[in-house]
Amino acid sequence: MNLKERDKKHLWHPLTQHKIHPDALPIVKAEGALLYDDQGKEYIDGIASWYTAVYGHCNPYILEKVSEQMRTLDQIVFAGFTHEPAVKLSEELIKILPDNQEKIFFSDNGSTANEVGIKMALQYHFNKGEKRNTIIAFQDGFHGDTFGAMSASGLSVYNGPFEDFFIDVQRIPTPNKENFDEVVKQLLEIINSYNVAAFIYEPLVQGANAMQMFEAQYLNEILKICVANTVITIADEVMTGFGKTGKNFASEYVETKPDIISMSKALTAGFVPMAVTSCTQNIYEAFLDDSVGKAFFHAHTYSANPIACSVAIAGIELLSSEEIQKNIEVIIESHQDFDLKIRNHSKVKTTRQKGVIYALDLDIEMDRYGKKRYEIFDHFMKNGVCLRPLGKTIYLLPPYVIKKGQLDKIYDTIISVLNSL
Ligand SMILES: *Cc1c(COP(=O)(O)O)cnc(C)c1O
Repeated sequence: MNLKERDKKHLWHPLTQHKIHPDALPIVKAEGALLYDDQGKEYIDGIASWYTAVYGHCNPYILEKVSEQMRTLDQIVFAGFTHEPAVKLSEELIKILPDNQEKIFFSDNGSTANEVGIKMALQYHFNKGEKRNTIIAFQDGFHGDTFGAMSASGLSVYNGPFEDFFIDVQRIPTPNKENFDEVVKQLLEIINSYNVAAFIYEPLVQGANAMQMFEAQYLNEILKICVANTVITIADEVMTGFGKTGKNFASEYVETKPDIISMSKALTAGFVPMAVTSCTQNIYEAFLDDSVGKAFFHAHTYSANPIACSVAIAGIELLSSEEIQKNIEVIIESHQDFDLKIRNHSKVKTTRQKGVIYALDLDIEMDRYGKKRYEIFDHFMKNGVCLRPLGKTIYLLPPYVIKKGQLDKIYDTIISVLNSL
């Protein structure tokens, strides 16, 4: 049996309706910006494998560091023990995070990073003797698939069967020039009508919501209102973190800094899963007490796994290197040139860009999970380009090590898709 047949025997894939979904494509090897399937065909990874492998697949520098760590210390309980990779990673993260961040808490994935952030915010108020039970989130935001994170997510295709079990969430639209006064009005109404504990948001770019973008100045006003009402602010930088927006973190574009930041995905560069939730000294201190009752009783078995930490440290070194920073600039400028070429194409409705993230909306009728979407996906894959359209949106988030020629091939394939519609 080949891989496809063996796969179907026992595997259940995420986000997949197995009754109608085409077979999963076996990938046997990856290197730099390239993926190779079991027939030897190569694909340019235009989305860095869900925004993770930003320094290129199987990056040799990370590989060297991780194999060294694997031979030294593989795993140790992080309750009551510590180790160099965790300490070093906390130091390196604090250097690049917004100035107000002081403490680093570990978990395993983007959803749990947000789960931790939400629980920290709820317990912060609890520890101060206040009962606050409501979270504010953006409509159509995405924060993950565990219960707290799922409750905060507004994209309901995923959430239908679970809605009766959600934590209390109130939603506001993302702000822009036109709706700003109305959003502020709604926000104040929610704050006055509910006991609001926290506001969770994806800063500037909503990944799962087809890379919708909004401006820092309006977000800043919303954060200022939260701060004035002791609503804990949680920036979900799981997608935007580690250079994607052209800065290390999207929160750097916003004057008011969040109390809590969640990160994952590019944190461990596609090698192993890990996540981090950082917070301010003020949040941390609300958990200090002579009794254990006020402590944060949340743990994952693999918290601060030394191997994962060593990957993250190597990743931050690469991110801060001149070479990667220069490549990020090249990608940003290439996207801008491409945009000028296609923004007036008759099949393009709108385009948007933040850093290396580029998205265009097609001016055609189609469903998010419809047949047309699969046809466009197939067109890309046949041409050796791995892009996964989100409904009408075609978006790019290439690894920072992508070569100019590879980028041009992606652009040309997008143009051929546009011309075929
Ligand atoms: C992917 C993502 C998550 C969830 O992360 P997982 O590792 O898939 O659990 C949460 N928030 C944002 C913004 C994401 O893009």
